[in-house]
Amino acid sequence: MFRNFKLVPNVIFGNGCFAQLNEIIEPKRQTTDDWVVFVTDDVFQGKDLEKQVPVHDNDMTLWISTKDEPKTSYVDELTLKVKAFHTNLPCAVIGIGGGSSMDLAKAISLMLTNKGSSTLYQGWDLIKNPAIFHVAVPTLSGTGAEVSRTAVLTGPEKKLGLNSDYTVFDQIVLDPQLTKTVPRDQHFYTGMDCYIHCIESLEGTFLNEFSKSYGEKSLDLCRQVFLDDHPDSADKLMMASFFGGMSIAYSQVGACHALSYGLSYVLGTHHGIGCCIVFDYLEDYYPSGVKEFRTMMKKCKIELPRNLVKDLPDEQIETMITVALGLDPLWENCLGKDWKTIMTRDKAKSLFLKI
Ligand code: NAD
Ligand code: ZN
Repeated sequence: MFRNFKLVPNVIFGNGCFAQLNEIIEPKRQTTDDWVVFVTDDVFQGKDLEKQVPVHDNDMTLWISTKDEPKTSYVDELTLKVKAFHTNLPCAVIGIGGGSSMDLAKAISLMLTNKGSSTLYQGWDLIKNPAIFHVAVPTLSGTGAEVSRTAVLTGPEKKLGLNSDYTVFDQIVLDPQLTKTVPRDQHFYTGMDCYIHCIESLEGTFLNEFSKSYGEKSLDLCRQVFLDDHPDSADKLMMASFFGGMSIAYSQVGACHALSYGLSYVLGTHHGIGCCIVFDYLEDYYPSGVKEFRTMMKKCKIELPRNLVKDLPDEQIETMITVALGLDPLWENCLGKDWKTIMTRDKAKSLFLKI
């Protein structure tokens, strides 16, 4: 079966294009009762960007914390707050921030129209009703969350996204200027998330011309950003993120993402840094990618945390392995159909113990 891939229908790109957000939302405000919820990273509270958000009198600003990556319990709590704000539902949900804020905005827009807890919808195509009109304004480039059909959530039982065509944003506003305040380390970690998406897609067994075309362009842009110090690097990384997301949408990620999910499930390690920590030990699987990653790391003067796993109780290491090996498609993409004979529990354990 070929996947019938849903794309974001409307994209605006360019430095300063955030100023057009009001105009973009305007057609949705059809009556005086129509209102909008802005799901905004709390790092912008009291900052310049806050003043530029087109909040009208009866709108809601939901300041969100990115201390932990999005959890189902947090989505449920925020959805209840939005429902309690007015008697009618909002006409638009706008996510402003990095992957965490964008995923929360996607999840809230879905949970406003779908009954029960978000845990019920972790999986593929379980969402029954279309979401509220939702828009992403990325302020950090790399995850590709702006183009993907998933909102990644950690639940009580699993870390798994709300994957559906309804998850895809209706509009994205790509304004590279908004990323200028990202701290140096975070810029690297989330940028490398994009780089690793490309390597895992391009070196995977699921590769096809669609994924290859987007992946190669994204990789080229990542190199310009992290090796050449290009003056337009904010513009380039924003497009790399978009193209990287498009590349994995029609292929898959691989070993690094699978292992990093295990790490993050047990230790709460955030996605970008988690991928960097793991990727550094995957030279047997992605030799040239890991070599180039180390060059980029050196150039950006990044020091990664080490020895995170070896002193953990055995039970936690076993959970890490179970979570990582539960991601069949990622391993199949990396190692082929017979991956289970290659990536045994013992092999996965030996990799985790190095981390
Ligand atoms: P993030 O959204 O968690 O943000 C990381 C940090 O950067 C936060 O402290 C945030 O406040 C800060 N930040 C963001 N923009 C800033 C700015 N302009 N100035 C200053 N600080 C800023 O990080 P992320 O790496 O973008 O996203 C990670 C999340 O994305 C994870 O939850 C991961 O699971 C998810 N993800 C989703 C997809 C998808 O397809 N949906 C893909 C990859 C990752
Ligand atoms: Zn990723």
